[in-house]
Amino acid sequence: MSELRERAEELMVEAVKLARSGEVELSRKYVRLALTYVAKGRVRLPREMRRSYCRRCFSPLVLGLTESRRVKRKTLIRRCLLCGWVRRYRLRGQTEES
Ligand SMILES: [Zn+2]
Repeated sequence: MSELRERAEELMVEAVKLARSGEVELSRKYVRLALTYVAKGRVRLPREMRRSYCRRCFSPLVLGLTESRRVKRKTLIRRCLLCGWVRRYRLRGQTEES
């Protein structure tokens, strides 16, 4: 277990807490910082965490707060409520998305 990866994971957890308490700007900084650790350490975050932030504005995605989810034709549509970024996930079968 890499130290940078541990720190990145901690930052992601904190970022979600910050977003929940309304500190969205700060939470984005945490996500960005976490991603620099990931890049520096050449490590990967767990899949769940890789999917838990907006790829465009780096906000942690908190359902009902910064994220909306919709299911349409077996596809999960996740939208960032802050910048409008949309990502689709197929619900059937294994799709490897990073
Ligand atoms: Zn966004």
